[in-house]
Amino acid sequence: MSNAKSLEELEQKQDFIRRHIGPSPAQVSDMLSALEVSSVQELIDQTVPASIRLEQPLTVGQSRTEVETLSYLKSVASKNKVFKSYIGQGYHPTNVPHVILRNVLENPGWYTAYTPYQPEIAQGRLESLLNFQTMTLDLTGLDLASASLLDESTAAAEAMGLAKRVSKAKKANAFFIADDVHTQTIDVVTTRAEQFGFEIIVGKAEDAVNHDIFGALFQYPTTSGEVVDITDLIAGVQSKKAIACVAADIMSLLLLKAPGKLGADVVLGSAQRFGVPMGYGGPHAAFFATRDAYKRSLPGRIIGVSKDRLGNDALRMAMQTREQHIRRDKANSNICTAQVLLANMAAFYAVYHGPQGLKTIAQRIHRFADILASGLKAKGIALKHSTWFDTLTVVSDSKDDVIARAIAKGVNFATNHEGEYSISVSETTTRADITELFDIILGEGHGLSVDAIAADVEANGSESIPASLVRDDEVLTHPNFNSYHSETDMLRYIKRLESKDLSLNHSMISLGSCTMKLNATAEMIPITWPEFANLHPFCPLDQAEGYQIMINELHDWLVNITGYDAVSLQPNSGAQGEYAGLIAIRKYHESRGDAHRNVCLIPSSAHGTNPASAQMASMKIVVVNCDKNGNVDMSDLKAKAEEVSENLSCIMITYPSTHGVYEETIREICDIIHEHGGQVYMDGANMNAQVGVTSPGFIGSDVSHLNLHKTFCIPHGGGGPGVGPIGVKSHLAPFMPNHSVINVPGTNIGNGAVSAAPYGSAAILPISWAYITMMGSEGLKQATEMAIVNANYLTHELSKHFPILYRGRNNRVAHECIVDLRPLKELSGITEMDVAKRLQDYGFHSPTMSFPVAGTLMIEPTESESKGEIDRFIEAMVSIKGEIEKVISGEWSIENNPLVFAPHTQGDVLGNEWDRAYDRFYAAFPVPAVAKNKFWPTVTRIDDVYGDRNLVCSCPAVETYRD
Ligand SMILES: *Cc1c(COP(=O)(O)O)cnc(C)c1O
Repeated sequence: MSNAKSLEELEQKQDFIRRHIGPSPAQVSDMLSALEVSSVQELIDQTVPASIRLEQPLTVGQSRTEVETLSYLKSVASKNKVFKSYIGQGYHPTNVPHVILRNVLENPGWYTAYTPYQPEIAQGRLESLLNFQTMTLDLTGLDLASASLLDESTAAAEAMGLAKRVSKAKKANAFFIADDVHTQTIDVVTTRAEQFGFEIIVGKAEDAVNHDIFGALFQYPTTSGEVVDITDLIAGVQSKKAIACVAADIMSLLLLKAPGKLGADVVLGSAQRFGVPMGYGGPHAAFFATRDAYKRSLPGRIIGVSKDRLGNDALRMAMQTREQHIRRDKANSNICTAQVLLANMAAFYAVYHGPQGLKTIAQRIHRFADILASGLKAKGIALKHSTWFDTLTVVSDSKDDVIARAIAKGVNFATNHEGEYSISVSETTTRADITELFDIILGEGHGLSVDAIAADVEANGSESIPASLVRDDEVLTHPNFNSYHSETDMLRYIKRLESKDLSLNHSMISLGSCTMKLNATAEMIPITWPEFANLHPFCPLDQAEGYQIMINELHDWLVNITGYDAVSLQPNSGAQGEYAGLIAIRKYHESRGDAHRNVCLIPSSAHGTNPASAQMASMKIVVVNCDKNGNVDMSDLKAKAEEVSENLSCIMITYPSTHGVYEETIREICDIIHEHGGQVYMDGANMNAQVGVTSPGFIGSDVSHLNLHKTFCIPHGGGGPGVGPIGVKSHLAPFMPNHSVINVPGTNIGNGAVSAAPYGSAAILPISWAYITMMGSEGLKQATEMAIVNANYLTHELSKHFPILYRGRNNRVAHECIVDLRPLKELSGITEMDVAKRLQDYGFHSPTMSFPVAGTLMIEPTESESKGEIDRFIEAMVSIKGEIEKVISGEWSIENNPLVFAPHTQGDVLGNEWDRAYDRFYAAFPVPAVAKNKFWPTVTRIDDVYGDRNLVCSCPAVETYRD
């Protein structure tokens, strides 16, 4: 038979590569003919400089099928031992409501969205984030909240930064941390302080007032569980004009007086135990609140209420001018990717349970702690404190025996403080668990009955929360927290919000530099397996063998892919990776007696996080110009490197450049920096144009971060989570982050942490692991090549209608291109903003706007989009160009055309009045393809200025819901 195929061929047909790569072979050949090349290889030869092409293929293994991959990963995961965790210290078991698990965490409508930079098509997650902020405000008792930070410990470091900015104790250079703050938080804040040149004083909380400080941090309740009235401590700190920061447990705040009401200036913490699995450390959202007076200093994003063109309430990110994109080295923080998906989960948890439900959960937790304490005390066990919310600390000389019995029963306590152990009960704790805890601590035959003790506690009450700290105000009174308590109502609320948002399950999101590629379902499946989801980050290492295997494999593959020698998976975002990488550079210079090297060269085209991170590492930034082709201006680079030579620390450079071009001089750039004793930091956000074809290590760079949430398929979650591992050459490896609770092999013991958990957001690493496994060496390379094919095809077609700003050799681009809208704007008055908003009417999310060049769109199709989808996008852009031409010709006035009125909502188009120069149908269905898959923005264009002038960062008053 002539068409007989070998078994091998038949099996290859099942591979994942062709599912991940969008264009079919026929579409690829169509695109290649449009580009007038005969093969993919020919295009790559034209595009990627020969001098940086890898000679050897990657060695990450052969592509495996989805079924094989998941079955192998399951066997790895099952090596994790899921013990009952009473470790606490900021991480608690939680019951994820199933309606949230399936319809948010496992739902691409939520997890594939991008950061809400286009608010008209993001009102759903903006409402959910506003719920998160409202919840934060209610629980903390403060005036102003941000939408989510990366974890509790980095939020504490941000609090220190805010304290320094706003404190009137201008001469003070020390920050105080109470010694009963979580260990990992002391670690992360100390690392940050070292970078800023602040002194850290760790001591007894009462001692804060005795130091010359600009701020202090307390834990409420303390890490060992004590509930202390911190009113006087706060007042003491403030009497020194210092800022009082409080890290609080979110669940305890249902029962305890809000720290804001006790006078705190900043309150922060983790929202993990509001329905987000522990996941061996993350991802989880941190909350952060402060006084209104400090709003310009607040780190992270703030969601605010504004108006749309028709006067309706509409949500958006407020005060974006504070963001690092715009403020660069004057930014408040370097946070870009945050934890939106997890903040949404926590907010939905509060919406679903409501104030009563949450209070019941908190009271039950507290009651179990009371019962446990009462039984232990009856048996003569000494507790360290007389107050608690959920955590009891036992001072014990038989600690080792108790821990051994606990381990034998599959139970973990917190053991990292000498001579004592702590037990934190949680939402998942049951009566049987309490009996088991008695068995462990007292030995069997103790004769205690949980029911009898419970009856006793109920009859006599408990004084484990001091009367002065019992919460007496109402929380979460807004209707959003009081309306959706049945599963049907909740399901519909989640769906209603989801429907307002444009995600990858609707159409392509061609955000340049963001790599919005496929987040395959098979990659997402493992993250909710209990073997991955339910591990505490500080559990003994031998219980996390599955994680260690997966992490080590991923580590080795990333080493291979980047051409570096070692990788740290700890940073929680690309920007945190930059920060960690710059710390490594700094420590390296210090180790060689070059502590004075503090100048960081940054090309003018750099992403805003680069200068913001450099500033966090206390580097002096010197900007290097770009030439008219968008490349680094070599003579300027040479001159500047020469000028600062003695003090040169490093360069931060993105490759391919943020202009979407493989700069030919990249090796020379590395050499120049090295000749002056500097290090090369290559921003890895554009790794999607490198994997398998070239690599930063091969090119000659010393350190990079990768955005696993760009190149390696972790979904963007509507603005996070992310993972920003750094790869380094061997000379920098000893300077990568370590962790004070769990030692990370391969780094110096003394190195501080940059994230709360040793492996950062470990729970989402299986996504990248699965991507690499299923693609294999060959598939990863193909993905890069197809990203280049798609980008060049799109560029080629668009260039017939718009100028393309920069190109590389042979007139090719890398994996993205910049369309210049300035000439059309000049002629018509139509702005890049109008084009971005009009694209929404066509069912598309705008590409990246005005970065890295104002007045442009940067478009990155990725390898996952088919030619069909790319053609639809091109059709939309060409049609929009036709609209602009009608403005230029005078057929439409600049005030009355579909671009300036975009986007069009149903209410707008179907309203009773219509006085536009174009018809209603055209407004909403400008090309026939739109009708097949119409996406309706739910608000019209949002007024940015109004929102900033009238900053409202909690859910609008009930009245506005009435009409
Ligand atoms: C996305 C991006 C970053 C920042 O990464 P985050 O994960 O959002 O912190 C840095 N540099 C470039 C070029 C980027 O595109």
